[in-house]
Amino acid sequence: MTSDTDNSRILSCLKAGLDELDLALLMLDADLRPHFANRALLHLFGVEASTVLQQTTFRTLLHHAAVHAWRTVAPANLAAFLDEQEALVRAGTASPRSLDVGLKGHVLLRCTACPHGGRLLTYALLPVALETNAEEMIEHFTAEMRFHSELMEEQGARLAELAESAELNAQRLDEVRTRLERELAERRLLEKQLRRLATTDALTGVLNRAGFMARAQRRLAMNQAARACLTVLMVDVDHFKQINDRWGHEAGDQALKGLADRLRAVVRRRDLLGRLGGEEFAVVLSDTAAADALLVAERLRSAVAASPIRHDDRTISLTVSVGVAMQHETDSRIGQIIRRADAALYRAKESGRNRVMSDAQAALS
Ligand code: GH3
Ligand code: MG
Ligand code: MG
Repeated sequence: MTSDTDNSRILSCLKAGLDELDLALLMLDADLRPHFANRALLHLFGVEASTVLQQTTFRTLLHHAAVHAWRTVAPANLAAFLDEQEALVRAGTASPRSLDVGLKGHVLLRCTACPHGGRLLTYALLPVALETNAEEMIEHFTAEMRFHSELMEEQGARLAELAESAELNAQRLDEVRTRLERELAERRLLEKQLRRLATTDALTGVLNRAGFMARAQRRLAMNQAARACLTVLMVDVDHFKQINDRWGHEAGDQALKGLADRLRAVVRRRDLLGRLGGEEFAVVLSDTAAADALLVAERLRSAVAASPIRHDDRTISLTVSVGVAMQHETDSRIGQIIRRADAALYRAKESGRNRVMSDAQAALS
């Protein structure tokens, strides 16, 4: 005979052993209330602690497993499923039943009626079912992955297409911009050249009449604003007609070019030098006092007289007469000063040529 103590030792030893089994095991009392469950069963039914079992019924426990752990029964079929399982267990059916437990696969349910009226249920995982389930899972995930990779491929292709067309557009835009910039630069250069041509004397390279008058007028306005003094020198070649007559027109042209070079060498960069016509040149000296202007004029005259022009082994001697006029406060047009400088030049010619005469001197004499 075994004592109660022995029985309880055997029981606890058995319980510990049952917890180690892969086979899920559930003991129910006669009212189908859970009495004992091993660890495999708690795991299979998605129950975290065995204490839950004490206040529940087989139906509630099964409901929990079906909804939270297995998810194999549609909500509409749930009540029928629970009814069927409950009836099965209550009947104590001896023949095993297969049960779909979702991702865990299929289990084989065996129900044994116990002598005290309770039931012993065992759920054994079916290896074949597990395999099938694994295959299903693999198939499912493969299909999912195929779908996603196709989607990604499609989106990748679209992105590549977009990037290509964006690159192409950027390239085209770049080409157009480069062409436009080049054309703009050429146009600006052309405009500059045209402006230069329009204001430059072709023979001597100094300002032509139009260019000189426009710039001289602007200079006068600037000088008035700054209350500075501006001077105009009119330079005319003496007896130039004779030079043409003696050396020919071409030599005369070369003489005019040489003259322009000499004048350019004497005046400052900021002064204006122009050919107003024929053998007549004009200079605008900015911000120059009367005495200094006369000095510049004299320097011009002597530079021309002192350096004859060489052309085809010929030495062409030139002299110039210079008329000088200072800006008056009442002058608003450059033409007014030019006219006075012209009058002074006329006096210089009259006085014997190769000389400088200012408008003040011209007025006195
Ligand atoms: P003056 O001392 O009084 O100034 O005498 P001038 O002979 O210099 O004056 P005039 O006005 O009588 O003659 C100017 C000459 O300049 C007449 C013209 O043939 C010549 N001439 C004008 N323009 C040019 C040019 O571009 N080239 C050449 N070679 N001669 C020119
Ligand atoms: Mg002359
Ligand atoms: Mg003249």
